[in-house]
Amino acid sequence: MYNCGPTVYDFVHIGNLRSFLLADLLKRIFLERGFKVKQVINVTDIGHLVSEGDAGEDKMTKALRRENKPIALEAMRELGGFYLSAFKKDLIELNINTKDTIFPRASDHIPEQIALIQTLMEKGYGYKISDGLYFDTAKFPTYSDLSNKKQQQLEVGAPAYRRGARVEKNPEKVNQADFALWKFNNELGWQSPWGKGFPGWHIECSAMSMKYLGKHFDLHTGGIDLLGTHHPNEIAQSEAATNRKFVNYWLHNEFILVEGRKISKSLGNTITLKNVVDRGFSPLAYRLWLLGVHYRSPANFTWETLAGADKALFRLKKLLVEELGVKVGKVDADYIEKFSAAISNDLDTPKALALLWDLVKDKNITNENKRATIFYFDKIFGLGLENRAALSEEMKM
Ligand code: AMP
Ligand code: ZN
Repeated sequence: MYNCGPTVYDFVHIGNLRSFLLADLLKRIFLERGFKVKQVINVTDIGHLVSEGDAGEDKMTKALRRENKPIALEAMRELGGFYLSAFKKDLIELNINTKDTIFPRASDHIPEQIALIQTLMEKGYGYKISDGLYFDTAKFPTYSDLSNKKQQQLEVGAPAYRRGARVEKNPEKVNQADFALWKFNNELGWQSPWGKGFPGWHIECSAMSMKYLGKHFDLHTGGIDLLGTHHPNEIAQSEAATNRKFVNYWLHNEFILVEGRKISKSLGNTITLKNVVDRGFSPLAYRLWLLGVHYRSPANFTWETLAGADKALFRLKKLLVEELGVKVGKVDADYIEKFSAAISNDLDTPKALALLWDLVKDKNITNENKRATIFYFDKIFGLGLENRAALSEEMKM
C-alpha cells in the first residue's frame, strides 16, 4: 500500500497524523490476518505548491525563507531531512509500526519523475506552455471518476477541503483542470529535457509508488483533501503511462478539526504531538481518542476530550498492571468474533472500542482470559498494552 506522506516543510500536526494512524490500522489488520504488507509512505521534500492548483510559492521554498536559510537545493534537502526525522519520531511515539516501511524522498527520485513525464509527453498526454509542462485531462476520458464516485457520498455544501482543491485560472491551459507535470524555474531546480525546474507535485506519487510497488497495487490512502485533485491526477498520469489500472482500493480519512475549525496556521490552532506531550498527555492517548471516531467521520479535537482519553488509557494500564494478575489465559472466542466483525465492517473502531470496555466490565470472563483478549484487541489498537514494564513506568509519570 501507498500512503500519501507529509510535506516536510514543518512539524506535522495531529491532523496529518490521523492519515498515518489510518495506514497503521490497516497494516496491523493485514498482518494479523496473515497478509504480507509492503508499505510506502512518500516524503514530499520539493515542489509542493502552497496552492494545490499549481500556483503560488512552493511550501519548501517558503519554509527556507521562514528559517532564513539560503534558497538552494542543498538547504532544502537539509530542511526536509530535519522535519522528516521529527515526523518519524512522531510515528514511533504513536506506536506506528514502521518496520519495513519505505520512506522515499521526492528529491531522490528526480530521474524517475522525468522518465515518467517523458513517457507521457511521447504518448501525447502532455503539452508545453510558458510556465511548464501540463497534463491534458481531456485526453484521459475517465479523469476524476474517483472523485465523482466518492463525491456523491459527500453532502452538498461540504467545506472546500472535502470537495478538492480549487484550480487556479491559467489562460494558457487547454482545460482548466489540466495540471503541471513540470514547472520551469530558472533560479532553482533540476535540469530536464525541457528546461530547469521542478516536477509537479502529483508526479512524485505516481513515479515513486510504481517504482516500489509496481504498475498496479492494492491500496492507496490519504486525507479527504486529496480526493478531489491529487488522487485523480495520480490515476490519470499513471494509467495514461501504463495502460493499466493503477490501484484497487482507495481510502480517505476525514479531517481533524480543532475546536470545530479547520487546522490552519492563520488561526494559530496547529497542534503537534509535542504540544500534546507538553500538556502532560501520553501520545497514545491521542491514538485512543482517535480510535473512538470512525475514519470517515470528521473528528473534533478538544483538550477536554483528549483528557478523557488520557484518563481512559490510564484506567486500562492500571487494570493490566495492578488488577488482572500476571497470567495470560485464552482469548474469548465470542469477543474476538464480534471484534473482528466490527473491524471488517469498514474499520468500525468505535464499535471495536466499545467492545473493549464491555470486556473490561464483564464479570463472566476470568482475569487471565480478559488479559489475553485485551492483548488480542491491542494488536489492532496499538496502544502498547502488552508491555507491562513500560506501563508501570508510565503510570509513575
Ligand atoms: P501534507 O503534509 O499537507 O501533504 O499532508 C499529509 C497528509 O495529511 C495528507 O494525507 C493530508 O490529506 C492529511 N491531512 C492534512 N490535514 C489534515 C487534517 N486536518 N485532518 C486529517 N488529515 C489531514
Ligand atoms: Zn500523493
